[in-house]
Amino acid sequence: MNILDYSALELSKEIKAGRISVAEATKTVLNRIADTDKEINAYITVAGERAFKTAEALQKKLEESRGKGHELSPLFGVPFAIKDNICVKDMKTTCASKILENFIPTYDATVIEKLEKAGAVIVGKTNMDEFAMGSTSETSAFGITKNPADKDCVPGGSSGGSAAAIAANMAFGALGSDTGGSIRQPASYCGVVGLKPTYGRVSRYGLIAYGSSLDQIGPIGKNVEDIAGILDCIAGADSKDATSYDMAEDSFLNSCVSDVQGLKIGIPKGYFAEGIDSKVKESILAAAKVLEEKGAIIEEFDLGFEEYAIPAYYTIASAEASSNLERFDGIKYGYRTKEFNGLHNMYKKTRSEGFGPEVKRRIMLGSFVLSSGYYDAYYLKALKVRALIKEAFDRAFEKYDVILGPVAPTTAPKIGTSLTDPLKMYLGDIYTISANLCGIPAISLPCGRDESGMPIGLQLMGKMFDEKTLIRTAYTFEKARV
Ligand code: GLN
Repeated sequence: MNILDYSALELSKEIKAGRISVAEATKTVLNRIADTDKEINAYITVAGERAFKTAEALQKKLEESRGKGHELSPLFGVPFAIKDNICVKDMKTTCASKILENFIPTYDATVIEKLEKAGAVIVGKTNMDEFAMGSTSETSAFGITKNPADKDCVPGGSSGGSAAAIAANMAFGALGSDTGGSIRQPASYCGVVGLKPTYGRVSRYGLIAYGSSLDQIGPIGKNVEDIAGILDCIAGADSKDATSYDMAEDSFLNSCVSDVQGLKIGIPKGYFAEGIDSKVKESILAAAKVLEEKGAIIEEFDLGFEEYAIPAYYTIASAEASSNLERFDGIKYGYRTKEFNGLHNMYKKTRSEGFGPEVKRRIMLGSFVLSSGYYDAYYLKALKVRALIKEAFDRAFEKYDVILGPVAPTTAPKIGTSLTDPLKMYLGDIYTISANLCGIPAISLPCGRDESGMPIGLQLMGKMFDEKTLIRTAYTFEKARV
């Protein structure tokens, strides 16, 4: 078997059994990147030398642990790709923005500490929409990432680089961030699996903030088991993130069992009302049938407030972004304009030159909805709508264990077709943003292909901190399809 065909967990088993060395696995991935990434552009930074050093140290650790009965992590030796808005010490972290093009963090994000402690090998940082704002990975200052399934199409966004890296075998595991769908939607467009954990499940320390009440780091991988294994590693409370929470769970990997007998699954009728591609609809309903055959009880229901999710999300996310991005001023971080006339002019020129158009649009929109005179009409109203949406989901979860639907209304669009009409692009987030507004977990996994062979993603949403049921349902579906 070709090393690249292993899942992350399988690869780790081979390494621990001594059949593949950590260096060999690392080299295979780096060679693959060298061969493939010129075309795909999934990586902003490839850290080959550092990866080999880590591999060497891990191999030594493995030899030393032999016969001592030490349990090594299920991720031991696995090459990983990290979205470029997650800080890795001494590795350039750009957020795909010119304003941070030379920013080198002096510390690791908590998720990085945890991954490295488990024996993961970080091979590089992946491309994304600038500051995670977008749905196509086209707004990066480092060029567009292409979809490995069709290089004329976008990989989705904003974690497009991480999803493309997994789809093209340029990493065995990856991390993304999801503020309104940025893990699930690119996973769906690229035909891989992605999970947005419950808000608070994974520490956000070291994630460069976009919308702090919505952001969540999560795994992207080849299959559901890999996702569960990565979540096991990165979940948990962190004293550096006051919003993180410890549920003292046993392993998510233990939830990888084929069993949905009696599970109640609701499908919101409104999700199929308009704008959805007929092939996407067909695949999602076929996926529901598969779960029904496995013993789940499927029912359609009226969720309510579907049409308000997008305006509420874009108001809140932009408001938080405008505040979070104030810190990029040419003094504290990154890029500073070359010539200026006084402090104010320096701020203005630095930010005008350093940020791309989509980020500027969000900052302007966010500052507007927060400004006195408009705050009550827009921002406060959006917060109230957010509460109503949360109530609608709470009501639904009184009846259902899982809510099933599409990830996106269409498959991956062609490169160059989305940014000309930002409002239309925002509408494409309709199915993913509610999970962020409510803080609930949601997983995206492949469930079919359209007429041109582009992947379609199935979304399962769960109750707060009930990733286990999501993983079990997703695993059952994945196994039933093989
Ligand atoms: N497309 C959404 C946005 O642009 C979601 C982005 C994300 O989840 N980071 O805000």
